[in-house]
Order: sequence, then C-alpha cells, then structure tokens
Amino acid sequence: MSDNQEATQRLLQDAARRGIRFRAGLNDRGVAPAADAVAAVERFREPLPENGATDEDTLALLDEIGSPAAVAMAGPRYFGFVIGGSLPVTLATNWLTAAWDQNVGMHEVTPAVSTLEQVAIEWMIDLFGLPEATGAGFVTGATVANFTALAAARHRVCMDAGWDVEGLGLIGSPPISVLVGEEAHPTLTKSLGLLGLGRNRVVRLPVDGQGRIIVSRLPAIEGPTIVCTQAGNVNTGAFDPIGEICAAVRPSGAWVHVDGAFGLWAAASPRYQHLAEGVGQADSWATDAHKWLNVPYDSGLAFVRRAEDLKAAMSITAEYLLTESEYRNPSDYTPELSRRARGVDVWAALRSLGRSGLVELVDRCCRHARRFAAGFSDAGFEILNDVVLNQVLVSFGDDPTTRRIIDEIQREGTCWCGVTVWQGKTAMRISVCNWSTTDADVDMSLQAMIAIASRPV
Ligand SMILES: *Cc1c(COP(=O)(O)O)cnc(C)c1O
Repeated sequence: MSDNQEATQRLLQDAARRGIRFRAGLNDRGVAPAADAVAAVERFREPLPENGATDEDTLALLDEIGSPAAVAMAGPRYFGFVIGGSLPVTLATNWLTAAWDQNVGMHEVTPAVSTLEQVAIEWMIDLFGLPEATGAGFVTGATVANFTALAAARHRVCMDAGWDVEGLGLIGSPPISVLVGEEAHPTLTKSLGLLGLGRNRVVRLPVDGQGRIIVSRLPAIEGPTIVCTQAGNVNTGAFDPIGEICAAVRPSGAWVHVDGAFGLWAAASPRYQHLAEGVGQADSWATDAHKWLNVPYDSGLAFVRRAEDLKAAMSITAEYLLTESEYRNPSDYTPELSRRARGVDVWAALRSLGRSGLVELVDRCCRHARRFAAGFSDAGFEILNDVVLNQVLVSFGDDPTTRRIIDEIQREGTCWCGVTVWQGKTAMRISVCNWSTTDADVDMSLQAMIAIASRPV
C-alpha cells in the first residue's frame, strides 16, 4: 500500500500500459491460453502474506501470470457461448468510472452517473421500440435482469389478485401460473426459483424445430399468470412469436416477459426487427449489455412497462436513503443498493456507435454468421439451424465425432467455439457477437476449423 501521489501515478500508468499491451496482443495469440500458461496459475496459490507486498509487485504478478492465462474472449475470434468484446471507448470509460469509484444508489449523491444512466435508458427505449414510460434498472447480467423483471411481474399479478407479495411473501398467496417455452434459458428458470415461483413448477410450452413457442398450443389461461418468452434462443438465435403471444394471452390479464439477453438488440435493426415483431407489447424485458452491445462485464438491464411495478418490487424506504426525490433514484429499480456505475459504459457505447453504428454492428455479426454457415455447408457439413441471427449450429457427423472435432478446434487456437446439444443432437455452436470480428477473421477461422474437421482420424 502506498499513499504517495507519484507512486500512485506510476502504478496506474503501469496498469494502463499492461492492459494496452494485452489488448494489442489479442489478435496474434491463441484464443485459448497455452497449457503452460494455465498451469502457471498455480503460482497464485501462496499463503496469505503476513506483511503486504508492494503494489508494483502485486500488479506485475497479476499481469505476468494472469494475462497469458486469460482467454482471448475480448478478441475477434472467440465464438463461444454468447460473448461480446468491449468497445475501446467502453473500456476507457470503464477505467475512468472505476477511478471515480461512485456508489450509484441515489441520485443526490451521484448526480453525474445517475443522469448518464437515465439518458442511456431513454436511448434504449427508443432503440428497442418500448413504451416511453418504461422503467429500467442496471444489473449484473441477464440472469439478474430476468430476476428483477420477474419480481415486478410477481408483484403485479399478485396485486391484481389482492395480495401484497412484497409484504406478505408467497406463503398463503393465490397460486401463480408460470408458462415458459421448452427451450427457455436455464437462467430464466433459475430466476423463477429465486423468486419462490419454482424452477420445476412451471408449465413448459411446446416449441418447434427452432425452439420457438407454438402459439396454437398455448393452454387456456386462468388466474394470476406470467408467460415467459424469448427473443434470441441461445442455440439457434430464433425468437418466440412475441406479438402473437401477447395478443393471445393479453385478454386473460397475463403478464408477458421477454428474455432478450442478446436478441433484443436485433429490434434496433431494420433488417432484423421483424424477428422481434410485437416485442413492445410485452410487460417486461431483460437484456445484456455485455453481450451484443460490447461493454465490459458485468452489465445487464431490466425493463418494465409500468415503472411503478418495478419500483414496488425493488425500492426500499428508509429516512436516510433520501428516497423522496424529484429524480430517478437508481436503487429503486435494482436488487442492489450499492453498486458500480455500470450504466456509464452503456451510455458510452451508445453515444459512440450512434443508432447507425449499433445497427451496423448487429447486421455485421449476422452477416458473419451467414458466412460461417455457407462456408461449412460448402465444405459438406450440416448446419442444424435456420441462421436467422448471429448463431450457427454445425454438426460434423455423429455426436462423438462432433465432440472430438470441437476439442481439437479449441486446442488448435485459431478460434474458439463451444459444444451444445440441440434437440438431442451434439453440435458446435458459433456465436458472433464481437465488434472487432472481420470477414478475414471468419475466413481464417473457417479455414482452420474445416482443415481439422476434414483431417483423416
Ligand atoms: C446469456 C443469456 C442469459 C444469461 O445472461 P447472463 O448475462 O449470463 O446472466 C439468459 N438468457 C439468454 C437467452 C441468454 O443468452
């Protein structure tokens, strides 16, 4: 620990220099870390030092062992899971806001950050075509965004049945029906479990070959009900027919939630917004900023049509917390009271991309996905999904063969793609989400993967 100004400056400059060097090397290293770099992380396991180490030494150790062992997720050829990179401007603003070290609980005490978050919310409401008065909260990711939005749903459907769920809890409440698509993301059911609605108590709705809820097979709805839809299936990229589902269940008073962790961003693009047709008719939405918007981890967003429902579920009241305010108090909309200023990165990404830049980012990733699909098809491999967005599922033959080839692709290091099982069949999943991926990255990755897949065993 050092409280010397000059030493602090040197330390922060050293951190910036090391971070810049890591980023500059992303394109020229294997995407997965080398085996010896991974083995070296054992060197972190030292006994708690009795007396503190120097700051320089701690930073150097982190960089020398940590950087080579870090996966190049921020780079242009990481196609695993659904992982965004971080736009340079968002990394820069993230560094600056870390220096500010603001606790964004209340507007009065963090006016700059609270205002930026409010601006970002208004911009996203516009981009996604959500109702103007929609309320929103900045959370850690789509898991917590689903949790937050569904807490608002739970509040409203209970209140409509005459039950104050925040005050009384769920014990003794009117039963709540929860409907989810058979292909709902597992974090959505986890959120339902956290809310006391049960992971397994849900009614699972039949889906088609792309994972979309089949509207004609929706059950009759009675009593307090929450219907969970999806904008962007994590395997196929497919969207539930959200507008049709809203039209079908709205007369019964059911709440419609949309898990749009990455897919909601497609609603900003004229080319892809047809997939999200009717999305603005839902009652709540969850999305990630750390996926397709390409801001640093962790960053998710919960939106609720009636801001009062979100506030009723999330706000706390205590005299000292200055909750009576003419401004939007950030902590009235999130599970957290204290948190980092994550909305600044979202604001910076949107400001630097502009509407056209965001649309271009979405369209470009989708174009790359089609290029991957065409490349594998031309080489004689099967694509298991309709490539409607940024996700591609590739089969290399039977399940063990597909698994073996994915292992070899991950080890070879040109790019990184993960494994999934789609409706019973093992597949390699490609997700194109990174702002820095170019046509050349796609071609280089295709070439490396096809060479591996075509090699005789
Ligand atoms: C990624 C994802 C989630 C979970 O998001 P986290 O940011 O990892 O919490 C939920 N739903 C869908 C559809 C996703 O793609």
